[in-house]
Amino acid sequence: QTFENFKLNKQLLEAVKEAGYTKPTPIQEKTIPMALAGHDILGIAQTGTGKTAAFVLPLLMKVKYAQGDHPRALILAPTRELVIQIEQAIIELGKHTDLRYVALYGGLGPKTQIEIIQEGVDIIVSTPGRFLEIYSKGEIFVRNIKTMILDEADKMMDMGFMPQIRSILEVIPVKRQNMLFSATFSDRVEKISQEFLEFPERIEI
Ligand code: AMP
Repeated sequence: QTFENFKLNKQLLEAVKEAGYTKPTPIQEKTIPMALAGHDILGIAQTGTGKTAAFVLPLLMKVKYAQGDHPRALILAPTRELVIQIEQAIIELGKHTDLRYVALYGGLGPKTQIEIIQEGVDIIVSTPGRFLEIYSKGEIFVRNIKTMILDEADKMMDMGFMPQIRSILEVIPVKRQNMLFSATFSDRVEKISQEFLEFPERIEI
């Protein structure tokens, strides 16, 4: 398998090459075509497997061809560190696109983050708590969010984020593509995937 086999555009393939990725990892091989075809994904993969690029590449592709003024994708992750790591993958792989993004997390005031949102963003990467905090100020238009990704879902459950995630799912459109990644598979992960995913492709590596 090569990255050229995927239905990714030139800008993304160029960024992949510049990132030094010569061939897709197993999780990327399975996830990228399924995600590009619009399927919901349940991915069981640990950090270090290339899971971030596995969802960022199809996401960038999808968001690129459905431009508008408002955020169209939301990625939720349990910690500030992980949010920043995902943001860095978006910066690196999206560097030849004109997609706009914002990373939302606590530990500092929301003012700068709100200003970036007001300028217009295509993709939001956030911790659940900070997303709800800014949303409740009326600063996030959620009606165009068509893709939702939950990264490290098992960790989010461990950290008690399920009520916040449910609140977020109540306000974003029902018709959307979902991807859920977890390092482990358990009854709990099974349960939330039944709650959030529609006929998911289960990918385990
Ligand atoms: P992750 O599992 O998403 O945390 O990624 C682990 C590391 O692998 C990151 O530093 C990525 O930049 C790198 N990486 C992701 N995909 C590839 C690939 N296809 N080839 C080489 N390195 C990769």
